[in-house]
Order: sequence, then structure tokens, then C-alpha cells
Amino acid sequence: MPIDFDTIVNLSKKRGFVFQSSEIYGGFRSAYDYGPLGVELLRNVKEQWWHSMVRMRDDIVGIDSAVIQAPQVWVASGHVASFSDPLVECRNCHNRFREDKLDDPDQCPACGERDSFTEPKQFNLMFKTHMGPVETDENIAYLRPETAQGIFINFENVRRTARMSLPFGIAQIGKSFRNEITPGQFVFRTREFEQMEMEYFCRPDEADTWFRYWVDERRRWYLDLGMREENLRLRPHGADELSHYSVGTFDVDYRFPWGWDELEGIANRTDFDLRQHSEHSGVDLSYFDQERNERFLPYVIEPAAGATRTTFAFLIDAYREEEVRGETRVVLGLDSRLAPVKVAVLPLSKKPQLMEVSQRIADALRTRWAIEHDITQSIGRRYRRQDEIGTPYCVTVDFDSLDDGAVTVRDRDSMAQDRISMDKLASYLAERLT
Ligand code: ATP
Repeated sequence: MPIDFDTIVNLSKKRGFVFQSSEIYGGFRSAYDYGPLGVELLRNVKEQWWHSMVRMRDDIVGIDSAVIQAPQVWVASGHVASFSDPLVECRNCHNRFREDKLDDPDQCPACGERDSFTEPKQFNLMFKTHMGPVETDENIAYLRPETAQGIFINFENVRRTARMSLPFGIAQIGKSFRNEITPGQFVFRTREFEQMEMEYFCRPDEADTWFRYWVDERRRWYLDLGMREENLRLRPHGADELSHYSVGTFDVDYRFPWGWDELEGIANRTDFDLRQHSEHSGVDLSYFDQERNERFLPYVIEPAAGATRTTFAFLIDAYREEEVRGETRVVLGLDSRLAPVKVAVLPLSKKPQLMEVSQRIADALRTRWAIEHDITQSIGRRYRRQDEIGTPYCVTVDFDSLDDGAVTVRDRDSMAQDRISMDKLASYLAERLT
């Protein structure tokens, strides 16, 4: 059963995954702050992406480029001229919308008026600012709307210093900014967000093969981290939808509570970007293939995912409600690699003898995993809270522990309980936590 939107937003706020930004000032539209659990989940998603895209491969390296780059970058990339969405305004209520995202292009979704839209105007999505103390047109700078360009302009630096030869990739995770006309659906579309992008450079005649490879590979990544297959689909872009730089794009779509929507786009960007930057900068970014004695501009296959959007999708996907002895149990069935807390250590009561043991256990486990030492409320309520935030294991220290040196380990999904000797606890958990 698809989970409804409000349920997941409420859980996010109640448990401290995501807060409305500037809440004490009444909130700031479309900006969100990640709370103690949200920041762990987001970091884990990024960590898993980095692990599979960079650490596990010898053909991909990472960079971390500046958010504010030379404005010529965005002229060369085509963003100044054409990174825009069609904006329409309702003449009746004066709300503004992105024309290509309207359910009915003739009816205003805010006031219901028909045929009230102005002609669409192209609205550039880049945030503009000024570098330095003088606010003139010469000092205009942009906040990057994608992390990709920081990779293209470093192509030669990275190739040379990391001694890479084709095919190879450069990966980056970082913040991007787009002045979206209609942000919304919680953290799905915001004006400040995080991306996880990788540019895979290859010979032009191998681009189709690598394109198919990356489409499959990226789909597999979501499935491997436990996303449900029925909630994922691959969707090829129609010719009219393709970005100015792409000759082929597949979206990885997720079934959000409001319908299918994009998590990631995998595009064949051809040699568009390296060619543009070569021409605009005057620096030759072509590649010399020593084996074939050939010089050419590499083609690029780009898997571009949203870290914040993907985190939201994992949260939605993991949510389930179950009937347990006549009561509803809410569980986040997150893969243990993504779970914000891996193990909760719970003393049965606040008695000093128990607290001392549980604190010692928590401190020992903390060196390896994200641990919560949770001492408040009844044990039942603590289990429920840990289920709701997706903690895979709860370790309970009770009065018998003082005599038998053992603790109870409860599994989140099966709720089965094992009695484990304290000196075997770390290895027991290590076998189960990936
Ligand atoms: P959309 O059609 O949803 O505006 P896009 O096709 O322009 O997105 P890309 O330029 O392909 O998006 O960006 C790659 C990824 O970055 C997207 O798949 C998405 O996960 C993420 N992303 C893009 N814009 C936003 C945003 N405003 N808020 C959150 N994530 C975003």
C-alpha cells in the first residue's frame, strides 16, 4: 500500500529527520534542515554512493569543486542561455507555475480559473550573486546549478595528476542551487539541494555500451540498498524532452506518494561539455589515445542523482505499518547500511548497576557503529521508537545481565530476541550489520 505523503512528513518532523528551515521565524519556503537522524541517513546515502562509485572501483576518482566558479563556465555550458523553465502566471490569482509541470495546462491549480495563464516566459533557474564588494554586471557570479561542470573544467587536471586513461570517471557530491519556480513536495524539489554526479569519459564509439552499462548499474544500486523493485522504473526520455547536451537519457523514477517522479537521470552528454569548454577557454581538452595514436574529445556518460531526493525516497520506501498483537507497529525497514542508528543500547531501568553496564557496552560499540544509549521511558516505548527510526538491533541490559554476563538482542524486522554473552556481542552484531 503506498504510504501517504503527510504520514512521512509528520514522522520526519516528529523524530527529527527533517525540520522546516527558519521555523522559529515562521519557516522559509522550500528550505529544510536535516535533524540528528536525517543528517545520519543523508550521510549514509552519500557514503553508499561514494563507496560504490569511487572506493570500489579503480576507474573512478573523486573531486570536490567550488560552488562559485568563473561565470564563463556557465556561459560555455549553455546554462546562461538556456537553463530555464517555462513560467506562466495566472491572471486571476497571480500565482506562478512551471508550465511543463501543470496537470492541466488550461486550468490554474491554485484558484481553479480556466484560460487564465499568461504566455510562457523562459525563466533562468540560476541564482545570481556578486563577487566582491561591488555590485556591477562585471562582478556577477552564479551558485552552481549542478556539480557536473566542476568536473568538466577539471578534466585535464584530474587525468594528468591521477594518471587516468580512458575509460574513466570523475565523481562529485555536493550542493547545487536552482531558483525553482515551484518547489514542493517536502524535500523532493528544493532550491538548495545535494547532488551525486559522476562523469564517465570514454571513446565515442564505446559511448552506447557505457550508457547501457550505467543505466543497469545505477538501477542495481537502488535495489541493492533495499529499494522495492515495484517502486522503481527506468524511463527513456522522448526526443522532445532531451536536454540541450544529451542524445539519450534514461530516468530512474521512483513511485512517490503523488506518482512516478525522477530520482536520477543517466545521460549520454556526447563531447558537448569538453568541446564547449575547449572553445570558450582556449585550452585543448582533447585526449590522446597512445595505443591507437589518435586524438579526440571523449564522450561522457553521466549518472546524475539527487542525494536529498534519494534520501527522501529511501525514507518513504522503508516505511511500513504492521499489526502486532492488536496494535499498529510502525517500522522503518531501512537497510542497515542506511539506518541512522545501527544499535540502541537500552538498560531495563535507570538503576546505577544497569546504567553502568549499558554505558560500558554503548561506549565499546560506538567505536564501530552509530549507537544510541537510550535510557528514558518504558522498554516497550523505547522499542517502538527504535523501530520507527529504523534501528536494526536493540541490546537490552537487564538484572540477569549482572549475573550471567549476557544481554538480549532484539532484531527489528523479526522482533526475535537472542540472549548473547557480552563478550560475543560485537562479533554477533558484526556478522549481521553489513
Ligand atoms: P527535474 O526535471 O525534476 O527538475 P532535472 O531533470 O532538471 O530535474 P537533473 O538536472 O537531471 O534534474 O539533476 C539530476 C538530479 O538532481 C535529479 O534527478 C534530482 O534527483 C536532483 N535534483 C534536481 N533538481 C532538484 C531540486 N530542485 N531539488 C532536489 N533535487 C533535485
